[in-house]
Amino acid sequence: MDSHTQAELLKLFRSKFTQAIKYYLETCTRCGTCVEACHVYASMGHTKYISAYRHEIIRRLYKKYFKARGRFWPSVGEAKELDDLAIEDLYEAAYSCTGCRRCMVYCPFGIDTQLLMSIAKLLLIGASAEPEILSLLADTSVEKGKSMEFFKEGFLTGVKQLEEEVVEKWQTEAGQTAIPVDSVGADLLYVALAGAHSIIPAAAVFNAAGENWTLSFFEAVNFGAFVGDPTKTKLILDRIINEALRLKVKEVCVCECGTAYRVMKQLSGRQPFKVSSITEVHARYIREGRIKIDKTRFTEPVTYHDPCQIARNGGVIDEARYILSHLSNNFREMTDDPRYNWCCGGGGGLVALGEDTLDFRMKSAKVKVDQVKASGARILSTACENCHTQLSNLNDHYKMGMEVQFLSSMVADALVPKDSAPA
Ligand code: SF4
Ligand code: SF4
Repeated sequence: MDSHTQAELLKLFRSKFTQAIKYYLETCTRCGTCVEACHVYASMGHTKYISAYRHEIIRRLYKKYFKARGRFWPSVGEAKELDDLAIEDLYEAAYSCTGCRRCMVYCPFGIDTQLLMSIAKLLLIGASAEPEILSLLADTSVEKGKSMEFFKEGFLTGVKQLEEEVVEKWQTEAGQTAIPVDSVGADLLYVALAGAHSIIPAAAVFNAAGENWTLSFFEAVNFGAFVGDPTKTKLILDRIINEALRLKVKEVCVCECGTAYRVMKQLSGRQPFKVSSITEVHARYIREGRIKIDKTRFTEPVTYHDPCQIARNGGVIDEARYILSHLSNNFREMTDDPRYNWCCGGGGGLVALGEDTLDFRMKSAKVKVDQVKASGARILSTACENCHTQLSNLNDHYKMGMEVQFLSSMVADALVPKDSAPA
């Protein structure tokens, strides 16, 4: 690595310094409480997957370049050179961590591994060593935001086709416009993923609830967040914020995408609209009697995987249970306290990297598989696209024989048609 590149990377490192990050960099006592907390370490047993070990890779660079003792006496505190080998270590640490923050809830100081790994990811981008596909996907999302007019017609044609499916399956709920788009003055803007599975069931439930809603032109997923690029994360997020402001909505409802929800909830700042996950919205509809659910629709035992970004990191825990209590008489928890639920092993961009990470994802999530199996359930429900893909991969790989379901699809499938609901 030449000195110019190194200087540029150190500038990026410095740009991440916040009070929280400095605290995390200064604080670890190496108490070891976090050792068993990481699903990767618990499943694979390699020291490099202990969360505190991941921190140390960042911390040694910090000591070398930002602490006087490291600069003048590098052997003390194991300060480390920022070179090509360090970049390899950073990659290994950052892209074997899903950012699930399970270790954080065990650490007595609450050290946030995801935040420390965001330094690693930014340095990888600076060294052009990040997974290229994630940057390309982020660029595509940013470009779409700049030239919406170009995509608009194709999008609207696609939505018309989806409307036919909504009407076919949920005739009584569909209303006049089964999937409204670009409705100024709608109460709720729904931000979906690219794919019928994220739009059709959601449309059915919004219509059944009599919601004044509109579908976003933009897909929820934020590849900028996966790759750890703060500028692109913000640009991708701003597309939705600007759309919500233009349409004057009161609420932005994010589909089953954990990262999209966390980014929207935590980074959108003060806005004239509130941000909700679709799980919160569905729970509200049930609570307010706006939709009725057939509790006999799913007879097999059901368990629920809490998406880390929605539950542990987003605080949406009880709402999923509330929905499930209306969906099933046979719901089984995987753990006493959902905040400590194992990660599925697919977050942090790993699922988006597809086949390249498949072997690692399967090996690193063995503890999740054991946890799911121990529940004795046959239906494995979740509320995040990444989790759903990862759990489906695990289901196939480990021949678990489960039915992996989106929670929102279960709600849609169990809707009691209005004309058959008791008055
Ligand atoms: S955030 Fe999750 S994946 Fe990363 S080190 Fe902590 S427990 Fe492991
Ligand atoms: S639990 Fe916290 S303080 Fe203890 S070793 Fe892990 S990161 Fe360090």
